[in-house]
Amino acid sequence: MFYCPARIIFGDNAMQKGESYLTALGKKALIVSGKTSAKLSGALGDLIDSLKRLGIGYYLFDEITENPILQDVIKGKNVMLKQGCDFVIGIGGGSPIDAAKAISLAAANNLTEDELYQIDKFLFAFPTVAIPTTSGTGTEATQYSVLTDPKTKKKAGFGHNKAFPQLSILDPCYTISLPKKVTLHTALDALSHLLEGLYSNQRSPMLFPLIFSGVEMIVKHLPIVLKDGQNLASRTELMRASLYGGMVIAQGSTTLQHSIGYPLTSEYGVPHGLANAMVMEEIMNLYQIAVKHELEQLFAATNMTKDQFFAWLRELPFDRQINISDEFIERAIPQIMASRNMALNPIAVTVEDVGRILKKLR
Ligand code: NAP
Ligand code: FE
Repeated sequence: MFYCPARIIFGDNAMQKGESYLTALGKKALIVSGKTSAKLSGALGDLIDSLKRLGIGYYLFDEITENPILQDVIKGKNVMLKQGCDFVIGIGGGSPIDAAKAISLAAANNLTEDELYQIDKFLFAFPTVAIPTTSGTGTEATQYSVLTDPKTKKKAGFGHNKAFPQLSILDPCYTISLPKKVTLHTALDALSHLLEGLYSNQRSPMLFPLIFSGVEMIVKHLPIVLKDGQNLASRTELMRASLYGGMVIAQGSTTLQHSIGYPLTSEYGVPHGLANAMVMEEIMNLYQIAVKHELEQLFAATNMTKDQFFAWLRELPFDRQINISDEFIERAIPQIMASRNMALNPIAVTVEDVGRILKKLR
């Protein structure tokens, strides 16, 4: 099965190509973004030009921070209802777009903070548009939204078909302004999605062409973009790989690699993609026994050996170690074991496996 109901417009001038589809979505948009990237990337300016041309009203809610929190979703819901908006447009990285999805559901079903993970209450949704400015999460093609409760420091996602964007507008030029570190961390998130699509116990050979070519694009183009952030051709391939990663995880979620990353982000502020990357090698080795044949197919298709892939990964300039406490490890293990993504692991992951991987990070 393959399900991805979003209309996806990809490439140069995507906003112009996609704008005619906006008219059918509503009369007044709540634009959801962070403080700076929507403007800096050029996406907000292009969107406002399109909305004005189409005679669609808008209100800008630019209060979403990295790893969006439940309270800001409810704030956005209240603004949306007060302003009389009838659709939502998320611009930015995964954080504002995930928040936009949650605001749409919260407003349409009048949800409280405590009900944001209660998917049985998701009866209605306002149409949602995604305009990514990072190449990482693939949220423009998924039914997921990942939110954090700052009171409990718990970061967790929900998935619901009503959270798929109706329209996603991807212009790689919006990623040119990304700093080197965010470029690297987000690309590693996309790589995690592609690999986890291969590991997942819901994997399907139908997805393998997306997975293999996505991995190949990242291996080839990430080093080029890290040297020259202005290289639009390579930025385009990273955005395409990120989209493929989203399309892949939309069919079956992520695995332990993501579950283990969430507490590292919510407790220690490790950027999402980096948290996944820190355990990438360990996870591949852990799963190897169950997905040996799939990994052989991946490496044959991408003209690499596993050792060459690991050598490539080790060359990338990211932190592998983090000084986590015993107390954190004890607290994080049950949270990780209970996470939604663990149902997709290709092997029965034990408490000991998780503890060993966490301890290796120090
Ligand atoms: P992000 O948290 O949205 O953004 C990271 C930083 O990059 C922010 O400071 C942002 O600025 C800045 N930024 C974004 N685009 C920029 C640009 N073009 N130029 C300059 N700066 C830019 O990063 P992300 O990695 O894309 O999203 C991570 C979130 O998505 C996490 O919460 C993660 O759990 C979630 N996620 C969701 C899915 C899904 O399927 N829904 C999948 C994987 C991950 P501003 O604050 O100004 O925007
Ligand atoms: Fe992710």
